[in-house]
Amino acid sequence: MMQVLKFGGSSVANATNISRVLDIVEKAARKGRVVLVCSAISGCTDTLLSIASTARGSAERQVMLEALRAKHFDIVRRLFTGEERTAAEEALAVLFDKLAGAPEDEMVTFGELFSTTIIARKLACEGLRTKWLDSRILVIKDNDALTYNNISAAVALEPGVQVFVAPGFIASEYDGKVTTLGRGGSDFSASLFAAAVKADRLEIWTDVPGIMTANPKTVPAARTIGEMSYQAALDMASHGAKVLYAPAVRPAMEAGIDIHILNTFEPENPGTTVSAPMAGKPSAWAGVTSTGDPVHGESLICLVSDGPVHGESACARVGDCLKKGGIAALSLSSDGTNVYVAVRDNVADAALEAIHREFFEEARASVVNLFIAGFGAVGRAFVQMLSDTSSHIAETSGRVLRIAGISNSRKCLIDLAGIDPDGLEGRLDAEGVPASSFIPAVMSMAPRRSVFVDLTDSEDIHNSFVGLLREGLNIVSSNRRSFAVPYVEYAAMIAAARENGCFLRYGTTVGSALPALESIARSANSGDEILSVEAVVSCTLNRILSSYARYPGTFAQTVRKAQEEGLTEADPRTDLEGRDALRKLLILAREAGVPLEAEDVQITSVLGPGYDGLPLDAFYRKLEEDEARFRADEDAAAASRCRQRFVATLRKDPSAPLGYSASISIRRVPRNHPAFRIMGTENAVIIRSAFHPYPLLIQGAGEGAKQAAGSVLNDILL
Ligand code: ASP
Ligand code: MG
Repeated sequence: MMQVLKFGGSSVANATNISRVLDIVEKAARKGRVVLVCSAISGCTDTLLSIASTARGSAERQVMLEALRAKHFDIVRRLFTGEERTAAEEALAVLFDKLAGAPEDEMVTFGELFSTTIIARKLACEGLRTKWLDSRILVIKDNDALTYNNISAAVALEPGVQVFVAPGFIASEYDGKVTTLGRGGSDFSASLFAAAVKADRLEIWTDVPGIMTANPKTVPAARTIGEMSYQAALDMASHGAKVLYAPAVRPAMEAGIDIHILNTFEPENPGTTVSAPMAGKPSAWAGVTSTGDPVHGESLICLVSDGPVHGESACARVGDCLKKGGIAALSLSSDGTNVYVAVRDNVADAALEAIHREFFEEARASVVNLFIAGFGAVGRAFVQMLSDTSSHIAETSGRVLRIAGISNSRKCLIDLAGIDPDGLEGRLDAEGVPASSFIPAVMSMAPRRSVFVDLTDSEDIHNSFVGLLREGLNIVSSNRRSFAVPYVEYAAMIAAARENGCFLRYGTTVGSALPALESIARSANSGDEILSVEAVVSCTLNRILSSYARYPGTFAQTVRKAQEEGLTEADPRTDLEGRDALRKLLILAREAGVPLEAEDVQITSVLGPGYDGLPLDAFYRKLEEDEARFRADEDAAAASRCRQRFVATLRKDPSAPLGYSASISIRRVPRNHPAFRIMGTENAVIIRSAFHPYPLLIQGAGEGAKQAAGSVLNDILL
């Protein structure tokens, strides 16, 4: 068996690293013969270029030469002892003398001579039959036939050698002049050697675990690509992936030799195997790379495909994900497979992250970390639901929902390893820390793409939303107070979600589990024009008005009964005066694209004047006094075969400043109105739009902790 192993500059950077290399080579030598190709120690080639560009005899050059010399002699001192050390030092001293006298344009070729001289000697000391090969004689630039002949002959001449050691990077011109194969060229050398000896195995050892979906320094979520085709590797390398020198692909590909890219510092990691595409392997995205164009201050980003994909439709997806991230593409194109996009330099990293997230991270997000604020009725129902259904969810959606943090109004718990939903309530109070630390802790600890779940009825929790979104958290909220804020604040939250590629969902805030908001968003998104939205979404008033019509009892008694059943806000006037309905209407309107503010809404309170500021019992007394008026209204409705419904309405109105007028009041709805038939705490939302001849009617249960919890869960999984 013949193997070619190549080690890069950081793999041979110092004595410790070289020892690792020696281990790997010795192991390989037990399996078969080895050609070992090495780079110069890291930084050496750059230093040699600097030395060559300074004046001969200058102090500056002397300082650099000395430093380089000291580094190499230090390695020798650490690797060798006794006579072997003296011999290695002598060999190195000869090379450094030659360097001092070499023509400037040849100086750059010495780094690989230094490193391979040291390593070949050390392998010999370890008892391996070793031979150093002079790549300057064997490798003829741009002449594969001659190169292959030279190498195979040199190897054939030495049947007893176990390990050949050859400098990478360096070669000759056809006329014999010493040259290089270009920066990073040792990979190319290795591939030429492999093709020449018809190697069974080619390994490129480096300091990262293979070819990754992106440069991990820019995109921490980047991961190793296990297998890829020669073409994809070539495209990655040609468009900016540093791990492999692009010209290295061709010789191996032509010879049909797989390229294994491995990590010297993690030798057990299988890394990346580059090979001919396997028949029947589905096409996929390989990775995303970038190259800078400093002249124009632009970066060219390439989304590399592995196999034929639909490049044009991917263009749109790339454009969308950048737009979502607030990044402008200067140009966007596809050659049918890869997608190319140019962006300004200063947003290149953000663009890489956004594209990587869109194309490579979704599938991995199997664990969804939840940080739950609020442990009241909905919170409890939600946690119970997680406990009951998580294995089913994992099966059907492939996602594991994990409670990583939870808070009630007093205490909070955070554990990124996951918190058991069973018995949570007791543990929260017993083991929790003060709730005030919850949001700051979430912001600093939560992994990106976690979901912050707002199940509170807090007035001010929304103040943290922009910060949470900036930290990369998604938000799902059932708290309508968080969205019925002034429009600028609402818009800032939406924008922060967009810019950070996160979602902010609040489908539960209107009509609980009913798909009211999403139906409006659908119309708005498709360019359909909303003509009107009539929302009968106050469970409290629906119950009060339908009970009052059907059962005996005064209006005051009916309200009191609803309050006793827990159907009203703490102060029933919040419902009766339409404040809760107002929040819902603001949210509905904004979903329809209308930047409605509270002052744009004309509210007719159920109560009439004189109720403000009364203590609760005086309030009920006054309701009782007004019974005649409530009864008269109800009788009049019944006489005209109508029913009273509390309706929040948004209606297209060209004379209104926003193009829409908005109102909240009791209305008498006739038999043929969809809200006529709803009962108890049922809700109905009726949407009329330009595209649809009939109104869309959404009707069903509008309250209940379980329904709300289910709706929150769906927002998370959407
Ligand atoms: N030493 C050369 C360079 O730094 C070749 C290589 O490392 O592959 O470019
Ligand atoms: Mg290199």
